[in-house]
Amino acid sequence: MESIKVKERILLASPHMSDQGYEMEYVKEAFDTNWIAPLGENVNGFERELAEKVGSKAAAALSSGTAAIHLALIAAGVGEGDIVFCPTLTFSATANPIIYQNAIPVFIDSDYETWNISPKALKEAFEKYPEVKAVIVVHLYGLSADMDKIMDICKKHNVAVIEDAAESLGTYYKGKHTGTFGDYGIFSFNGNKIITASGGGMLVSNDEERIGKARFWATQSRDQAKHYQHSELGFNYRMSNVVAGIGRGQLKVLDQRVEKKRYIYEFYKRELGGLEGVEFMPSNEWDEPNCWLSSMVLTGKVRPIDVMEALEKENIESRPVWKPMHMQPFFEKYDFVGDGVSGKLFEDGVCLPSDTKMSVEDLVRVVKVIKGLWIE
Ligand SMILES: *Cc1c(COP(=O)(O)O)cnc(C)c1O
Repeated sequence: MESIKVKERILLASPHMSDQGYEMEYVKEAFDTNWIAPLGENVNGFERELAEKVGSKAAAALSSGTAAIHLALIAAGVGEGDIVFCPTLTFSATANPIIYQNAIPVFIDSDYETWNISPKALKEAFEKYPEVKAVIVVHLYGLSADMDKIMDICKKHNVAVIEDAAESLGTYYKGKHTGTFGDYGIFSFNGNKIITASGGGMLVSNDEERIGKARFWATQSRDQAKHYQHSELGFNYRMSNVVAGIGRGQLKVLDQRVEKKRYIYEFYKRELGGLEGVEFMPSNEWDEPNCWLSSMVLTGKVRPIDVMEALEKENIESRPVWKPMHMQPFFEKYDFVGDGVSGKLFEDGVCLPSDTKMSVEDLVRVVKVIKGLWIE
């Protein structure tokens, strides 16, 4: 008789609290001292510890990575009608804050070498739009963009650089942490990221004055006055002290999470990399990636949809590579510079389950399903 027992679901990426209970210790402290919200020692501690971890002078803990991008744009002076270059292959949260500022995104293509913003397309974009105000760089799936080339180009044009490192906490480019090359870097602690605080974000910069200003904007821009006085537009973007406690605890296991993510990537690459038409996300010698989501492109007979359907039948989650912003109904009216690499990556790409709680048996289960498609 066939077994009807449903196999346990394998997830793409889910929250993974420390075995030691670090998060609860910090959260308990917040409860014991009644510093539930707002702010408090966990917020200060999380800012200090994250800044130290990535090698940045200052950090502001915020309600989300999206809020951090928004404040970075404001800090960079982006306002109505300004042009902002943005990688097209990313999550919409990278691009939305450009619209919040009534600015104009110009979407830039990826290259196959990094899957990130193409230096060649970026150069072309500067020729077309020399008046550009800021450039956003994303480190997709925990792979670093080619920062030397990108920073060279941006420095020539004297433009603000914002790094969306939401997916790349723990990723280093030539020994320097992603998110610390540009004027501003942002991180996310959303539930599916490499570490999570249940939600939240961080804005980092070496400009302590600007970070102070970001904290001010994030708490409704309250002037130093006894009464409620406001000279600037404000936002309610600060992180709560409970959330920050979870983040502090998670930061202690970041290195372990990176190690596991890399193990998962190496496992898949070893087991699947030899199949016809399979190519894994790029590894460059200057990159020490956190391998947040292990992804591959399929250029042969087996298509991403075949892989995703076969996995789903076995109760295993997977998903396509991000759909480029210039192909999104909401953003398609904006300009795009490039020759379509991002579109190809979207068409051919699939993200495999990369949950750090996966066991070797789970990995074997995934690999077996995929290999089966090549045998048929
Ligand atoms: C998750 C993510 C964000 C947004 O972070 P939130 O904390 O969810 O607002 C931004 N950019 C990229 C590339 C992301 O993956």
